[in-house]
Amino acid sequence: MSPSVAGTCPHCRELFRTEIDASHRLACPRCEHEILETLAPERVFEACVMCDCDAFYRQKDFNSAIGCCIVLFAAVLVPWTYGLSLIPAALVDWFLYRRTADMVVCYRCRSQFRGFDIPQRIVDFDHYLAEKHEAS
Ligand SMILES: [Zn+2]
Ligand SMILES: [Zn+2]
Repeated sequence: MSPSVAGTCPHCRELFRTEIDASHRLACPRCEHEILETLAPERVFEACVMCDCDAFYRQKDFNSAIGCCIVLFAAVLVPWTYGLSLIPAALVDWFLYRRTADMVVCYRCRSQFRGFDIPQRIVDFDHYLAEKHEAS
């Protein structure tokens, strides 16, 4: 999977998601404004390309809609399965969760960075940091 960035373009204010090409250039597909000259993979998380914030958190790039559907389906079957349907559903859910890669999110502008090597220092979401870095 090639690295991709999703966020709101600082120039046209449109949401976009774009892959980083071989030259590491990042541009908004809509206004084609070059946000950054180059996006060196080892420096991506020094400062956010969108807002210059240096605080990021990691989270599972997990499509929770899929997980919800499975659990809901299992819940519907409960009267016939005496609740046993919830066990495989939980397993599938867990399996999907385990298989899902981490992505990195900027605390301030909520841009999402997928497919990069995530430095060890970037940890799970922290409410204190979120409040500190929330765009005012
Ligand atoms: Zn744009
Ligand atoms: Zn940002």
